[in-house]
Amino acid sequence: MRVRFAPSPTGALHIGGARTALFNWLLARHEGGELVLRIEDTDRERSTPENVEQILDALRWLELDWDEGPILQTERSARHQEALAALLEGGHAYRSQATAEDVKAYKELHGSERGFRGEAEAEGAVRLRVPDEGATVVQDVVRGANRFEHVHMDDPVIARADGSVLYNFAVAIDDLDSAITHVVRGEDHVSNTPKQLLVIEAARAVGLTDAADPLYAHLPLLHGPDGKKLSKRHGAASVQELRDAGYLPEAVRNYLALLGWGAGDDSTVLSTQELVDRFTLERISRNPARFDETKLKWLNGVYIRELDEAELTRRLEQYTGRADLAEAARISQEKIHTLADFMPLAGALLDGPGDDPAARERWLDEDGRAALADAREALAQAPDFDQASIEAALSGVIERRAAKPRQVYQPLRVAITGTTISPGIFESLALLGREETLRRIDAALARS
Ligand code: GLU
Repeated sequence: MRVRFAPSPTGALHIGGARTALFNWLLARHEGGELVLRIEDTDRERSTPENVEQILDALRWLELDWDEGPILQTERSARHQEALAALLEGGHAYRSQATAEDVKAYKELHGSERGFRGEAEAEGAVRLRVPDEGATVVQDVVRGANRFEHVHMDDPVIARADGSVLYNFAVAIDDLDSAITHVVRGEDHVSNTPKQLLVIEAARAVGLTDAADPLYAHLPLLHGPDGKKLSKRHGAASVQELRDAGYLPEAVRNYLALLGWGAGDDSTVLSTQELVDRFTLERISRNPARFDETKLKWLNGVYIRELDEAELTRRLEQYTGRADLAEAARISQEKIHTLADFMPLAGALLDGPGDDPAARERWLDEDGRAALADAREALAQAPDFDQASIEAALSGVIERRAAKPRQVYQPLRVAITGTTISPGIFESLALLGREETLRRIDAALARS
């Protein structure tokens, strides 16, 4: 099996493209086949080197590797010219100056159902000659057999008058030359497939290849949670944005795999190895899939909790660009869903308290300050300053004051972080250490 991922580098790699890359990768790894990376950079204006680098970067972040390439489509133009010349020579293509107006006039004459056929001319764009009889049948693993009657198909333009080839031609020749056996791509390409198959057929007829037609699998559309076509307003739209939002690549792979594919049972948490083991084209759905960032976030939380402490620390340090996060990472692990959740949760422990006036008003009133003063005494006298000693000291305070736990913990939390948000209170105090804890409490008490 040989598959390919063939992005056009006209911008960032979006979620749909990332899913296509992932499905091809899973298929290749499941079958022990090869994945070819082809960069379709024929749109010279929009295909910048930066965009190419962006796509490679996104694939690397997703940890999707490839076995051949990247092949740049523009570097294959000599081969495209050779193939084009062979089709012209063999009578499978012809030059024509027919304009859109001419096509319209043709249809008025022959009926709108009749595919356009032009006259061969000395100059002009190149059109592929669609046979008059028969039909092209696309064997789609996801959608079944789809029959396109030739009589209804216009002769498609495959090269401009200046000789530059168009998408459907380049793709077909490149897939043939790379000996691609399975074309897995988005549903937006369904209508291109019969044209590409006709190019392949013509290429075979003139002896450019003896390869068989690839098998096709068109992946279902992606919708947002509201059932509308996926777009920017549904949240993170590109792989770069997912990375910036603090998602883990393994969680993103897991989530993307479920967009239009299912393991056949209700499994939602599937490691990459399990995905590779279980992935088959037969279980791809025809129905639109829903990208729902809330679910991705939940799944990411599951993956974060599964990391061992050293690995979580490494990821957080890389994400935040900070060092020495081990202790803070350990006590935050249960409470964060993304790497981006970490600093808002634990940042005040590391960098000093913030200031949330509403939290101060709510919890450092007279009663709160009295509880805080008691807690300070107990913490100052605790025999040790590990989690258990802190807990014991504070339990004593709660008991003596006949208070609810939060009437002691919340004033403390506001004193040490400036807000009501932090990892567990005992762990947080232990991380600060006795000296810093008392210093912060004193500063809060001194504040009028
Ligand atoms: N370059 C095309 C795109 O990015 C995909 C071509 C293909 O997969 O056949 O939409």
